Amino acid sequence: MNTKICYVCKEEKEVLSFWKLKSSKDGLQYSCKTCMKKAQTKYSKEHKNKIFKKWYIKHKELHAKRVKAWSETKKGRESRRNIHLKYRYGITIKDEAKLFETQNYCCAICKDELSYPPQVDHIISRSSGGENCISNFQLLCEMCNIGKFKYLQEEYIEHCKKVVFNN
Ligand SMILES: [Zn+2]
Ligand SMILES: [Zn+2]
Repeated sequence: MNTKICYVCKEEKEVLSFWKLKSSKDGLQYSCKTCMKKAQTKYSKEHKNKIFKKWYIKHKELHAKRVKAWSETKKGRESRRNIHLKYRYGITIKDEAKLFETQNYCCAICKDELSYPPQVDHIISRSSGGENCISNFQLLCEMCNIGKFKYLQEEYIEHCKKVVFNN
């Protein structure tokens, strides 16, 4: 089997893994197809970035307008929510949708219907060692979220009972 060592990844590969180049000694490119493709993608990305930067300097306001318009579309809103969820809780908008479904679109404590966006609550708070994983999240209405705060669900519910009975 005819092989050649790629100049970039240093792997020995079949000659079929190289594109032809008439001007080289063996008639093949110095780097393999995979490495060349990678280099091309990198180049075109950088090239696009450069073009965008030039355009951006001249059209900052137009760009801001476009970004704003986009962020108000359904996709834009979803994307912003997704970034927020990932950043704060390490979950995606799909995880949130699943939680919504399992909770029947109701707050996990008071069972009132939830409006969007809901409050994402750590069932066991971070300060008590609760983790940022999907099984430790529930969706709450704003009041329940503020009321429960860092306490255990049972503690908060017990407290709510006192509020009801003593008023
Ligand atoms: Zn290579
Ligand atoms: Zn609630």
